[in-house]
Amino acid sequence: MNARILYTKPSITALEVQYATDAAANGWGPQCYDYIIRLESQFREHLGTRFAIATSSCTGATHMGLAALGVGPGDEVILADTNWIATAAPVTHLGATPVFVDIDPVSWCIDPEAAERAITPRTKAIIATHIYGNLADIDALMDIGKRYGIAVIEDSAEALGSVTHGRRAGSVGLFGTFSFHGTKTITTGEGGMFVTSDEALYEKVLMLSNHGRSRHQMKQFWPDAVGFKYKMPNIAAALGCAQMERIEELTARKREIFARYRTYLAGIDGISLNPEPLGTVNGAWMPTAVLAPELGISREDMMAAFTADNIDARVFFYPLSSLPMFTPQLENVHAYDIPGRAINLPSYHDMSEDDIARVSGIMLALVSKAREAASSLPSKRRGKRPA
Ligand SMILES: *Cc1c(COP(=O)(O)O)cnc(C)c1O
Repeated sequence: MNARILYTKPSITALEVQYATDAAANGWGPQCYDYIIRLESQFREHLGTRFAIATSSCTGATHMGLAALGVGPGDEVILADTNWIATAAPVTHLGATPVFVDIDPVSWCIDPEAAERAITPRTKAIIATHIYGNLADIDALMDIGKRYGIAVIEDSAEALGSVTHGRRAGSVGLFGTFSFHGTKTITTGEGGMFVTSDEALYEKVLMLSNHGRSRHQMKQFWPDAVGFKYKMPNIAAALGCAQMERIEELTARKREIFARYRTYLAGIDGISLNPEPLGTVNGAWMPTAVLAPELGISREDMMAAFTADNIDARVFFYPLSSLPMFTPQLENVHAYDIPGRAINLPSYHDMSEDDIARVSGIMLALVSKAREAASSLPSKRRGKRPA
């Protein structure tokens, strides 16, 4: 049996261990927030936003941000049907309704025209998720937001390292959220970040994040609102500080792995990988292959081929509206069509060139087998179109 290839794994060096050990030994009493403060400052600097608040997860960051915008019962929040549940769950928890719209078939991110068509008088916000590191069309969305007076938010959990025309993903919308779960580009074990350049929103989320206690409140144990407890532990932040010191190295390696996959697969007819339009940088969190329908290769075929070779692959997100707690939105044709012929490929810092070649080889073998099968048929389909 070939050695197992994981789909993701963090890169933890002596630096992460040193900081986490220091936090565990010394990060108490007056030092109990030191790594948190440092991580927030590193993150602000990296992203170019005025404010950053470390959180226990991206989900928590989104929950507090939406709460600070006043999202509540009767409100609607528009997001792509192709998403992780974490983007929709806070909307539901606040008593509002997630409205799932279709994706652009090239970027796999929210289609701005579909988002605009879904706007009603109840719409409170549009969430743009930069899926798998691909960039949503944030300028078109910001324009829609401005015209309708609706907040545009960036779920950038998968887009650390992604840049559009000089602006980092997460820094353009009213606020951005990030995840430092162990599968993400940087990790704190579990953790996340809320970022904004809007001072009033920052103050509100900071207050909510501290059990509703304003930092200007002089009375002890006196919350001004019912808030949340979504703080990042100092020990986790210590890991994050080391990861942020290595952010250029970590994102460069992600891009390098993606570039290797491109070398093997991008020229193959019928395979599309994550796009990287001119003027943008794809942070390449998760290299993903979408196969042309005429190949007839299904997600199940791909999963089976990878499993047989001891490789962990991941299915492309099912449309959220297809989950039992929501209502199917079959008109979201791309969100429903693409996952059945797509796969996420392994990508982690320490994977080897041989690993990337092995993964690519599985895809190439599937495609050539499909082509052989097609050409051995007395094909009507092939004859249909003159070359
Ligand atoms: C991972 C992820 C999240 C959730 O992050 P947590 O830190 O686990 O809460 C949210 N949105 C997207 C798009 C993600 O990939």
